[in-house]
Amino acid sequence: MPIQTTNPTNGMVLRSFEPLTQAAISGKLALAQLALREDRGVPLDYRALWMRKLAGILEHETEELATLLTTEMGKTIVSARQEILKCAACCRYYAENAERMLAPETIETGGNESYVRWEPMGVVLAVMPWNFPFWQVFRFLAPALMAGNVGLLKHASNVPQCALAIESLVRRAGFPRGTFQALLIESGQVEAVLGDARVAAVTVTGSEAAGRAIAAQAGWLVKKSVLELGGSDPFIVMPSANMEAAINAGVKARTMNNGQSCIAAKRFVIHEAVYEEFEMLFSAAMETLRVGDPMKEDTEVGPLATEQGLLDIEAQVAAAVKAGGRITTGGERMLGAGNFFEPTVIADLPRAAAVYRDEIFGPVAMLFRAKSLDEAIEIANDTPFGLGASVWTKDADERGRFVAELQCGGVFVNTPVVSDARLPFGGTKRSGYGRELSVAGMREFMNAKTVVIA
Ligand code: NAP
Repeated sequence: MPIQTTNPTNGMVLRSFEPLTQAAISGKLALAQLALREDRGVPLDYRALWMRKLAGILEHETEELATLLTTEMGKTIVSARQEILKCAACCRYYAENAERMLAPETIETGGNESYVRWEPMGVVLAVMPWNFPFWQVFRFLAPALMAGNVGLLKHASNVPQCALAIESLVRRAGFPRGTFQALLIESGQVEAVLGDARVAAVTVTGSEAAGRAIAAQAGWLVKKSVLELGGSDPFIVMPSANMEAAINAGVKARTMNNGQSCIAAKRFVIHEAVYEEFEMLFSAAMETLRVGDPMKEDTEVGPLATEQGLLDIEAQVAAAVKAGGRITTGGERMLGAGNFFEPTVIADLPRAAAVYRDEIFGPVAMLFRAKSLDEAIEIANDTPFGLGASVWTKDADERGRFVAELQCGGVFVNTPVVSDARLPFGGTKRSGYGRELSVAGMREFMNAKTVVIA
């Protein structure tokens, strides 16, 4: 993919960038090493101060930054503002809590003094996707920088200006030069960066293909990796659920970020006692969503970020119909400029269909009927992915079964799956491994040094 900003609302190429040369990359790696050495002497209080300043700049410049997000990848301006403010809150959270999270842990071993000391790993490469161009980066950046690591960002090729903006914000907040740098490089150049001895570890958020390729190399190099990959999250509705709340949440959970979220509800598993009602009301709600210019305040669904994304969705919907799926609303790309696809609902798709195993990264919901609690759990787990699950029930026994038996990184009861700076975030199965956020996420890129003093 060329490194360029193409407005997905009208297809216009706004800016293009040449990928960095090998010499330029090497210069940035040297700067990262220097920043790491200097950072060793910096008290945690300073990093907290800079992190708070970073939050302040994000809050102060929300409007300009949100406009950049919407221009580069098409999310609605309302959700772009929310994303910027979520990043600011994340910075504040790690500024406030890092000292507690990084404190040495005393462990009684009888007689000796023994404890775990948490140390940064060093220069960490972050390979990031375009769908939440700020949030994906900040949820790595805030804990990693507070822990004393140094970051290198290889952002997706369609959001280069977001990448440069983040580098500049970190610098303006006061972090020393080289603490966080954007590398405008193509995916083929990642191998050389990760192969450099100055890079200690890598985190990847993106597709399974990218995760596989990078983790294979990291494994060979014996470098730590964290993978946050795709998902096909279930959204389960049982008869006792508050139907109105479930439908409202389900529509938002499927169409947030124009349907392009790893933790979007993608497979709706509905108990047969309420299936007909759900299908009718959910399809009607999807049909009335306002689709259009994401810069307008009242737009609910904007364009897909790339033309390729639009082509993929078209092909997946066609494959679903061919396999026996029934469209209850939508199903077509929209006429005119831009990568717009109608909010779509597909019912009756046989689970044997190949497309059932795919992640559908657009505003397309698949509905499935479950005869019982057991069958709902079985359908929910029948996926190669395991990010999150949203379950809707007022029954305590059902809730207990879902929490215990769903195979995924997070179960959310009577509320949609969301990421939260305070909670661990990550997946199971082919959704990846490792965690971001919280103490668990912060420690992914730290050495737990055991100290024993006799
Ligand atoms: P993608 O095509 O895999 O791209 C993600 C990043 O990886 C980009 O920076 C891309 O660079 C780079 N990349 C791709 N192939 C690579 C390779 N072989 N070697 C090195 N780098 C490579 O994914 P996307 O389309 O941007 O994002 C959508 C996917 O991300 C979905 O599957 C979604 O579920 C997943 N996602 C997961 C999470 C999570 O937390 N689990 C969160 C958000 C998104 P280029 O742009 O230059 O190709």
